[in-house]
Amino acid sequence: MATLREQIATTALTVTKFPELMRRMRESRPTDALEIIKKAYEFSLKHHAGQTRASGEPYLVHPLEVALILADMKIDPAAIAAGLLHDSVEDTSVTVVDIRKEFGEQVAHIVEGVTKINAIDFATREEQQAENLRKMMLAMVDDIRVVLIKLADRLHNMRTLEHLPPDRRQTIAQETLDIYAPIAHRLGMGKIRGELEDLGFRYVDPIGYQQVHEAVEARRAAGEAFLGRVESVIRDKLKEAGITAQVESRIKRLYSIQKKLLRQHIAVDQVYDLYAMRVITRSVQDCYAVLGIIHHLWRPVPGRIKDFIAMPRPNFYQSLHTSVISDEGTSFEVQIRTDEMHKMAEEGIAAHWKYKDGPVSAQDEQRLAWLRQVVEWQRDVSDPNEFLSTLKIDLYPEEVYTFTPKGKVVVLPRDSSPIDFAYSIHTEVGHTCVGAKVNGRMVPLRFKLHSGDIVEILTQPGHKPSRDWLAVVKSSRARNKIKHWLNVHQRERAIEIGRKLIEKEARKYRVPLKEIKEPDLQKIASDYGLGRPDDLMAGIGYGKYSARQVLARLVPAGSEPVADSEIEKPGGIASVVRRVFGGDHGNSAIRVKGHGDLLVYRARCCNPIRGENVVGYVTRGKGVAVHAASCPNVIALMYEPERKIEVEWARDDGTPSAYPVKLTVFCDDRFGMLKQITAVISDSKTNIRNIEARTNNGQANIDIVLDIADLKHLENIVTGVRKIPGVHDVQRLQKV
Ligand code: MN
Repeated sequence: MATLREQIATTALTVTKFPELMRRMRESRPTDALEIIKKAYEFSLKHHAGQTRASGEPYLVHPLEVALILADMKIDPAAIAAGLLHDSVEDTSVTVVDIRKEFGEQVAHIVEGVTKINAIDFATREEQQAENLRKMMLAMVDDIRVVLIKLADRLHNMRTLEHLPPDRRQTIAQETLDIYAPIAHRLGMGKIRGELEDLGFRYVDPIGYQQVHEAVEARRAAGEAFLGRVESVIRDKLKEAGITAQVESRIKRLYSIQKKLLRQHIAVDQVYDLYAMRVITRSVQDCYAVLGIIHHLWRPVPGRIKDFIAMPRPNFYQSLHTSVISDEGTSFEVQIRTDEMHKMAEEGIAAHWKYKDGPVSAQDEQRLAWLRQVVEWQRDVSDPNEFLSTLKIDLYPEEVYTFTPKGKVVVLPRDSSPIDFAYSIHTEVGHTCVGAKVNGRMVPLRFKLHSGDIVEILTQPGHKPSRDWLAVVKSSRARNKIKHWLNVHQRERAIEIGRKLIEKEARKYRVPLKEIKEPDLQKIASDYGLGRPDDLMAGIGYGKYSARQVLARLVPAGSEPVADSEIEKPGGIASVVRRVFGGDHGNSAIRVKGHGDLLVYRARCCNPIRGENVVGYVTRGKGVAVHAASCPNVIALMYEPERKIEVEWARDDGTPSAYPVKLTVFCDDRFGMLKQITAVISDSKTNIRNIEARTNNGQANIDIVLDIADLKHLENIVTGVRKIPGVHDVQRLQKV
């Protein structure tokens, strides 16, 4: 039995909210019979009696509010009745059979659909979530009013979410952002989507919400005054041009701002469309005329003009967008669309009911076709994960859904690369990523991932991120990690260079480095306004300060530098080593046909050299191994012909490159033999890395490791050595 207090509260609803609902329905549907709504209300009143919401209000307030939201959509009385009854099967002793008996098949069917969706738990494992979404789509497609009721239900629950405990808030809000807001978006219901997103944002990320909220509030007064000025300018010009249009202004919604801040790494003041004007015209022709007027008034921002009238968005949104800069230097967006387009943008599929006197639009048909399509998919797709990925592509066109080889879903911004994927797994995987396989095939690191791709990242310990990656990555996580790494390591490198420069300068003055004391350096650092000697060294390394000037402060007055030539020793060991080994990874001399930046390496079993016929083989996890075509391993490897990949020697770009090649010379053991062999080698200006000789019974085997540029170079040496009297044979050893 309900308490007196509850009875009073319920009575209040009956005398205020319910008459309000009836009034709105009579207004929007003057010719429809509304008895069913009254009956549903009374049924709901009876069965929810004594129940309260988390807010302490009578439960009845919820179905009533849901019905009011539905009434705003000007939906039909059966759907309003179903809205009033939507929780009765779940939360009371009522069954679908009862509803069918009282209200007929149609209402029962809708209530059953909503009940089924309510039973779905979205906060479950991935596969289950997929299965659940599938169920929901099934219920939706059955009768589109099911999803409209569900959206109204969710909207009211979000509006009253503060009454729930924090962990429930978080789950419901996340689910709203993940599932309900995208569905509203897909159905073209911009208004409901906007409210769901802002409410979801507020509970999912309270701190982020607060920050954006404060940033907007701080600008609101000035922003509204600004928009007011712009609005009157536009009104005057439209009047002059004889165009009748409605002019509105708005400040961008918080969730949209937040998404932009995160996606573009910008501050609130850099958001081009923080302030926006909306001009709603009577005809498409007027839309373009207004665009001309706007561009005549203010300078458009290049690249920001979008014609969604000629090319509607996937959810059939139509509008012209442009961003312009005011005389005060503030940028703002102008959206221009017809009245019809505006209704569709705000209400989407719900506009179907609202303006049903007019013709049913082609867009409505297509929206419904999309839903039907979903059911078609569900028939064809037996794997729930596959279904999920197909569905999500459609719900979230801004994202791609990729998978690890083990089937874990990795969600990335559209056009993300394998580098983004690698960083999403682990920072270290990102840093050491050298290549990737997508669906089993090697791809370049700048490859654009698509939904459904299975991505396997190839790493190499010790590999380092490259600055070029910043131009490729799309996710903020990858960008931040790369930037951070570059900052830290560049500084370390700069400090090292700074120290070297100081050392070099010190030698010129014949000042032993150990005489330079830390406190002296500290003092100079302070003179430059720096905290520590390392900051000073980094500054020298970056070229901000000259090592000479810094050292001048350290050495006794009157010291003279000694001549540079005594110090410089160009072309020392280090430069030779660099020349031989080239870069620190991979092999730029070989490239895979059709792919720019695959990780390629020369197979150790045969060590092919430039000019040799080579074949590529896609390894499991190490990139493309390049073998000599003659390598005995190649035959064995080709058991898996799909792993073979065409490779070629890149055009010689003149940068010195050399490969170690090991030769064995079989010859007589005689005096002067070694000298003759080395003479042939040095005549061809070839570097000898190592030489070893074994003798036995007057015969010698001499192993020589040489730096060889290409096949021709090698052939010249082999021919030359073979001509030496007493040399029987020269063989190239595949292994070095
Ligand atoms: Mn409900």
